[in-house]
Amino acid sequence: MKYKLVCFDVDGTLIDNVEYSWQLFHDYFRIDAEKREQAKKKFYNGEISYLEWAEHDINMWIEAGVKKEDFLKAMKDSKIRLMEGALETIAKLKKKGLKLVIISGSINIMLDFLLPDYKELFDDVFLSRIYFDSKGNINKVEATKYDMSEKANALKKIAKREKLKLSECVFIGDHHNDIEISKQAGLAIAFDAKDEGLKKVSDLIIDKKDLKEILKYII
Ligand SMILES: [Mg+2]
Repeated sequence: MKYKLVCFDVDGTLIDNVEYSWQLFHDYFRIDAEKREQAKKKFYNGEISYLEWAEHDINMWIEAGVKKEDFLKAMKDSKIRLMEGALETIAKLKKKGLKLVIISGSINIMLDFLLPDYKELFDDVFLSRIYFDSKGNINKVEATKYDMSEKANALKKIAKREKLKLSECVFIGDHHNDIEISKQAGLAIAFDAKDEGLKKVSDLIIDKKDLKEILKYII
C-alpha cells in the first residue's frame, strides 16, 4: 500500500456542524467578542503565541464561570454530530493496518461527547484538553501548541518516530488552519472545505459530506 498513516482534523472533518469548537463555545457562552478579536489579532500579528491565545480565551471561560454542564449543553444545542461515514471509515482504515492519527486544535470534550473511545481508535492524538473538578468547574487546561502551521510539525514528529516518509502520510482537513500540514502530506484531502487557500494546496477536493468518500483514494 502506498499510504501507511492517515491523519484527521476534528472540527468540520471528523465532527460535523462546527467550524471551530473554540468559536462554538465562545458564541454559545456569549463571550465578549471584542476581547476575543483583540487576542486573535495579537496572535496573527505575532505578538502572542498560540498557547497564550488559547490560555487567554480559556481564562475568559473561567471568568464567565462556565461549567462542564454548560459545555455539554452547548454541544447538544449546537447539534454537533460525527461526520457521516466517520465510524465506517475509521474501522476500514484500521482493518487495513493503517496508523490513525488526530492532529487538531479542537478540544477533548468534543470527542469525549461524540466518539468516547477515540483514544483506542487512534494511535496518536494531538488535541487541546480541559478538565473539570467534581463540581464541574474548569480546573486544568492543556492547550495544544500543534494548531495552525504547527500542525505540520506534529505530523513530521510522528512520521519521524514511525520511520515513515511524509509521502506515505495522508491528511484530511477542512479549513484555513490545515494549509501548512496539507502542503507536507503525501496526499492532502480538502474535505467539505470552507477555505479557498486549503483547496489550492490540496491534492483532492471532496465536497460530498461522507468520509467514506476518502477510502478509494487511500486503500
Ligand atoms: Mg477543521
